[in-house]
Amino acid sequence: MNKFMETAYKEALDGVCKKHGGPFGAVMVKDNKIIAKGHNEVLLRHDPTAHAETVTIRKACKKLNTIDLSGCVLYVTSKPCPMCKGAIQWSRIKDVVFSGDYEDAKKLDFDDLLFSDGFDEEDDHWSQVDQEHFDKLINAFESCRKEIKY
Ligand SMILES: [Zn+2]
Repeated sequence: MNKFMETAYKEALDGVCKKHGGPFGAVMVKDNKIIAKGHNEVLLRHDPTAHAETVTIRKACKKLNTIDLSGCVLYVTSKPCPMCKGAIQWSRIKDVVFSGDYEDAKKLDFDDLLFSDGFDEEDDHWSQVDQEHFDKLINAFESCRKEIKY
């Protein structure tokens, strides 16, 4: 498995175990080094915008003391939703690597497909890896779903 994606998966599982939100994790990489990582904190913060990507973008901007993350690569366990795609564009990140796609998120009853109608156009700088591992997150989330009030 890609080492950065593996870290993103660990971050996602950590978030699930802490009941912070959905099973989504992200890692920001610059010059082949991790500069920030985060997971979905929607429930923790009572903030519907606290997706793994936005949490990680905020941490990376703070760490680098900039609002321009061009040159960074964002690894995320699931294909970014339209809101996160906007945040990715505003922070000038070109390269995104994701694992699960909108269909995988749908298996978890997440609404990405509702909001992404007509939005799922190809992006030359986005690529998909390790999709076969997404079921691990589904299983982890399902096993503690009763305790997570989404
Ligand atoms: Zn999102």
